Amino acid sequence: MAEPTFLQAVPILVYHRFADRAVDSMSIRRSLFAAHLETIHRLGAQVIPLSDWVAYRRGELKQLPARALVLTVDDGHLSQYQVMAPLLQEASQRTGAAWPITLFIYPSAISKASYAMSWAQLRELSRQPGFSLQSHSYWHPNFVQERRRLDPAAFDRFARQQLQRSRGVLQDKLGTAVTQLAWPFGLSDAGLHALAEELGYHAAFGLSNRAATLQSPQFDAPRYLTLDSVSERALAVWLKQAFQASQIDQEKPT
Ligand SMILES: [Zn+2]
Repeated sequence: MAEPTFLQAVPILVYHRFADRAVDSMSIRRSLFAAHLETIHRLGAQVIPLSDWVAYRRGELKQLPARALVLTVDDGHLSQYQVMAPLLQEASQRTGAAWPITLFIYPSAISKASYAMSWAQLRELSRQPGFSLQSHSYWHPNFVQERRRLDPAAFDRFARQQLQRSRGVLQDKLGTAVTQLAWPFGLSDAGLHALAEELGYHAAFGLSNRAATLQSPQFDAPRYLTLDSVSERALAVWLKQAFQASQIDQEKPT
């Protein structure tokens, strides 16, 4: 019997900041984030490391668990250390399951900006099981604007430096391998995708509210922008749609 071909649709969520109250659109309330984690658990989702999805997309991993889901968080905001990490640890203890997460970091802010984590805090997180720290460029430029502003040679130098320096500093400071990239503001273009590949990144991620599949661009894979406006019900709709899409495909005769 032929193996069932199945197009798995994996929701990759991206969070940013966490707060006790609603303060701005990028900050999700602590209570709502806890409700999101509960929703993920209730729907039977299995949180997998982003590296597993990348291996699947690259054809190195044949299959992912049914109802696989990925958690990511961008920008290295201090509230990720103060609010998010403890809630994920609680969820792990309560459910007995791993809740891996990938943090996309732009090193220029770390231990400098008042809103950002310190290198010591990042190092502490990087040593906890399930935490992966990856590149979000060096100082979070708007690459689309920069390409318009700079001549082609200058833009190429600029973009190379952003992608290489970020990885170099993260690897030096944390001692972990950096092979994944999230585009600042989710903005990229074909030239940047080719550059990320040339520089040895395995995959890169943008922002687009749909699930990632084998057909997703490897250097602009979609992530759901998960803001405070995304209620637990809205999240459940996204996840059910993705899991149903996988299911239908799984049942297709081969
Ligand atoms: Zn960002």
